[in-house]
Amino acid sequence: MNIEFSAEDEKFRGEVQAFLAEKLTPEMSREASRTTTVFADKDLAMRWQAILVEKGWAVPAWPVEHGGTDWTPSQKYIWGQECAKARAPGLIPLGLRMLAPVLFKYGTPEQKAEYLPKMLSGEHYWCQGYSEPGSGSDLSSLKTAAVKDGDDYIVNGTKIWTTHAQFADHIFCLVRTDPKAKPQAGISFLLIPMDLPGVTVEPIITIAGDHEVNQVFLDDVRVPQSYRVGEENEGWTAAKYLLEFERGGGGAAPRIHESLAELKSIAGQELNGSRPLIEDPGFAAQISDLEIRNTALQFQELVTLDRVSKGGSPGPASSLAKNTSVEIDQAVNTLKLEAINYYGLPHANMISLNGYNDEWVGAEYAETVTPRYINSRAASIFGGAKEVQKNIVAKVVLGL
Ligand SMILES: Cc1cc2nc3c(=O)[nH]c(=O)nc-3n(C[C@H](O)[C@H](O)[C@H](O)COP(=O)(O)OP(=O)(O)OC[C@H]3O[C@@H](n4cnc5c(N)ncnc54)[C@H](O)[C@@H]3O)c2cc1C
Repeated sequence: MNIEFSAEDEKFRGEVQAFLAEKLTPEMSREASRTTTVFADKDLAMRWQAILVEKGWAVPAWPVEHGGTDWTPSQKYIWGQECAKARAPGLIPLGLRMLAPVLFKYGTPEQKAEYLPKMLSGEHYWCQGYSEPGSGSDLSSLKTAAVKDGDDYIVNGTKIWTTHAQFADHIFCLVRTDPKAKPQAGISFLLIPMDLPGVTVEPIITIAGDHEVNQVFLDDVRVPQSYRVGEENEGWTAAKYLLEFERGGGGAAPRIHESLAELKSIAGQELNGSRPLIEDPGFAAQISDLEIRNTALQFQELVTLDRVSKGGSPGPASSLAKNTSVEIDQAVNTLKLEAINYYGLPHANMISLNGYNDEWVGAEYAETVTPRYINSRAASIFGGAKEVQKNIVAKVVLGL
């Protein structure tokens, strides 16, 4: 495998760098680098999305006729690398990177025409209604019921851990349309506008003090059957397809690479006795180990990008990529917390009920370390828990 980028790729890199230098303001970049939650702040992400849409670079992975680019896999990767290096805000993936591939594969022409342009323009903001109380890892046991009534379904049930539901105007939901069939066979994939009567959203405040997730209640919500994606009772296939993109469709390695660079910078400034921490062989070895693992992840992601660019999907190996990226990211956050030592404490009381301390204590880089450390723990759970990904890898990838 040739691991060098070609001269043409490097020329493209220059074009990307020039664009970022012109359009990504220092304020946006600073705001993005201070993000401690899973997704960037919605307003920031939407501002950046509008700039990218104008340039035609918001959704490189989409088909060109829908607003995507004709970039090669390595160009797409370079785009990710340069955005991470410049600290560009991440776009919210729920619509653009998760629902969109499902609509391309399973949506009707009318659904594509209705939803894709509005997703791109930001007119529609989506959230994901998969999990329910009691149905997370065992997702196919979900109980939210959609019962036919004329041309509509009447939907009753509840969805939980719904990220950004407080901002969303649409939710893509898995609903049970055949309670008698075996669990996976009775599920349909439904698009639900959240302004329909009977939809309510209740906040859930996490241990990190953030409001990212919610519980969504669906009480006698009347949804036209034309809002169903794919055939009735065949939603499980679309649901699994979406999860491949959620788990391993993006490029995590460039972002982790930048986080490792930040760790090295912190360890160069923090002291271990009288010497910079980075000179401690044990600490430096841990960083090197993570760099090697992240390089391996980068190659895996390039292979996935190549597959997706040829019309495929990330496949079950996305479960492996998800676990690997989460493990490395969490380990980097742990080392950062070790490096800043007691300067992590003032920000640790973000997890107490008394609110958090806005007083500036220690170096500026220390402020986001603790909240990020805490928030990154959730990554072993969302998108499918770590143990469940291991089961998938054992069964589907290794054939055990
Ligand atoms: C921050 C965050 C954001 C989220 N956002 C969304 C969202 O937007 N939309 C959405 O639909 N969901 C969302 N989720 C929910 C997420 O998908 C579920 O939490 C996840 O699938 C796990 O389900 P559960 O919480 O019910 O845990 P459980 O399924 O009850 O699992 C509990 C523990 O048991 C283990 N376990 C379960 N089954 C097995 C098994 N077969 N073998 C081995 N171990 C097992 C799990 O690994 C886990 O450690 C989010 C979760 C978090 C934390």
